[in-house]
Amino acid sequence: IGQSLEERCNRILRDMEGSLTARDRVGIQDFVLLDAYTSESAVLDNLRKRFNENLIYTYIGTLLVSVNPYKELGIYTKKQMDIYMGVNFFELPPHIYALADNVYRTMLTETNNHFILISGESGAGKTEASKKILQFYAVSCPSTKLLDNVRDRLLLSNPVLEAFGNAKTLKNDNSSRFGKYMDIQFDHMGGAVGGHILSYLLEKSRVVHQNHGERSFHIFYQLVEGGEEDLLRWLGLERNCQRYSYLVQGECAKVSSVNDKSDWKTVRKALSVIEFSESNIESLFAIIASVLHLGNVTFVADSQGYATLNNSPEIHWLSKLLGIPAQVIQVGLTHRKIEARSEEVLSPFTVDQAVYAKDALAKAIYGRTFTWLVNELNESLANKVSDLFQKTVIGLLDIYGFEVFSVNSFEQFCINYCNEKLQQLFIQLTLKSEQEEYEMEGIEWESVPYFNNKIICDLVEEKFKGIISVLDEECLRPGEATDMTFLEKLEEKMGGHAHFITHKLADQKTRKTLERGDFRLLHYAGEVTYKIFHLQVMRQSKNAIVKHCFPSTEPDSKKRPETVATQFKSSLVGLTEVLMSKEPWYVRCMKPNEGKQPGLFDDVLVRHQVKYLGLMEHLRVRRAGFAYRRRYEIFLQRYKPLCPDTWPNWKGTAAEGVECLVKHLGYKPDEYKMGRTKIFIRHPRTLFATEDAFEV
Ligand code: ATP
Ligand code: MG
Repeated sequence: IGQSLEERCNRILRDMEGSLTARDRVGIQDFVLLDAYTSESAVLDNLRKRFNENLIYTYIGTLLVSVNPYKELGIYTKKQMDIYMGVNFFELPPHIYALADNVYRTMLTETNNHFILISGESGAGKTEASKKILQFYAVSCPSTKLLDNVRDRLLLSNPVLEAFGNAKTLKNDNSSRFGKYMDIQFDHMGGAVGGHILSYLLEKSRVVHQNHGERSFHIFYQLVEGGEEDLLRWLGLERNCQRYSYLVQGECAKVSSVNDKSDWKTVRKALSVIEFSESNIESLFAIIASVLHLGNVTFVADSQGYATLNNSPEIHWLSKLLGIPAQVIQVGLTHRKIEARSEEVLSPFTVDQAVYAKDALAKAIYGRTFTWLVNELNESLANKVSDLFQKTVIGLLDIYGFEVFSVNSFEQFCINYCNEKLQQLFIQLTLKSEQEEYEMEGIEWESVPYFNNKIICDLVEEKFKGIISVLDEECLRPGEATDMTFLEKLEEKMGGHAHFITHKLADQKTRKTLERGDFRLLHYAGEVTYKIFHLQVMRQSKNAIVKHCFPSTEPDSKKRPETVATQFKSSLVGLTEVLMSKEPWYVRCMKPNEGKQPGLFDDVLVRHQVKYLGLMEHLRVRRAGFAYRRRYEIFLQRYKPLCPDTWPNWKGTAAEGVECLVKHLGYKPDEYKMGRTKIFIRHPRTLFATEDAFEV
């Protein structure tokens, strides 16, 4: 065994690192194996080399880095899936299938829960990666008639969610405008038996406004372009996107890379397979159509300057589609209801107010419909196959990356706060826990410095003190509080905080880069300057028509109203809890250039992503530490046949047995360390060679 093991080790080393020339050309497939130094430039060089050879995947230990090729590479075939199924992680070139397979098999052998965090900026390939993982499971998991039904639903939930939650933006023709966490549930045999989706912060403002070159959510265009004649007639729609004010704000209703007509067919079919009832499907499109009609409603001012409806046919359609008397809609769109003691008083809107209220209504209707849709999907995905057997899950988190625009508003604030939370989770689950484990096990190791971003999370979310708390307080003082008093409160409370700057708080040099009315946060991933939030938008507006549409979901009016920010914070806290109990895996997606171009690798852009995706920290921890660890008992149990002294029974302690075993296998002293309860192995290749020895 000894001799052939050495041979095998050599072969593996050769395969992994390649001969010198090959290596020069294609780079190294695991950054952990990069030569002595680990600089950002070395990482960048390696990524570029590989990208130029169409090798888009690279590992840092078990973390997968992926660079969007912006072209079809033919690496997602059934044949490729077969190659990666059940094969040792490091034995084949890096691939998203290798990661998916490794997670799946670890889940089965250790009977525990996992999640795969897919991060990266818009257009980096997160959603594609999550679809590839799901497709891999769909093909590789055990199959029965019942399970196949679950599989189809899991797969088809994607086109439905994308139709309603994705849109064309400047950065991505199919950009997810919501965060998504999806659990795939497995039975003890590894069959996929169900799923559950959580969605986060849908960008509702897109329904009423799109920047130049962007679109609203796909579903609107799909319906108008692809909807059957009968359906459109019933909905009162014309087959012409240009007719709808809400669809032409960005002046690009048509996108060459998107086929709305055929996508409509896919979505329609998916809805049926997922078993949406015909009446639910009808209601769904009635609501989508009513949003379009609402967008076309116009107001004129009466002699006193109050809004009146311009006798628009839209009201007729709204009334029909939403099942609300036209009169109620008319009054609802032009008046505010004020509750004074037990009386309700109507106060008329000006035209501007009415337009604002109309847009708010459209956003609310769409937002709630999206929530309803996710709930329906979840009912359909709920595990109906086996309750008897232990269920384990793999969660897929496809969530918006860190965002910096020239003007950043509340939405970017939430997205970047979410990224801070996920970075914090990464620190807790990976960086910190790694170091703590070495300490606990008494393993000597060089500690790796990293920036702990908890201080920024606290700045945003801390009770009574954080930005969200201040925002809530100000929202509760209508009439008195203004955007400016909000800013002043922030300055009062956050003044002196190292990560919070405003015009007033800044030193002279920085002050020039800030306007009064801006505040700047120093995020872990970089500085972002936010425009002060409009309190008006933050306050949850109640709308009589929304009440009509969604009577049961209207929050209890007696309860202290929650702002959007607080709701988002609570949902992130919930997500963190869900994730903390699971084992993490990471996919870091990168964008090679801003132009969606194949074959173009922009050094500056990629370097920036290397930085804020935390790759260097991850690499340093991996290099300083040990890729693999196993409890002595388990290690001995598995490998004792490889050594005559430990086979078939070892009389001493497990630790002694392992010591004897690895000496026999020829592990070099710096390759492994013996902890209190576990053996730590530096390189995966060592263990891989040991695994391989079985086959000899
Ligand atoms: P967003 O945050 O905007 O939702 P994203 O990270 O989810 O962005 P994707 O929608 O997954 O980005 O990818 C954008 C586009 O890049 C895809 O529509 C596809 O054209 C291309 N792309 C992404 N990954 C791959 C891949 N592995 N192979 C080929 N093309 C890809
Ligand atoms: Mg996406």
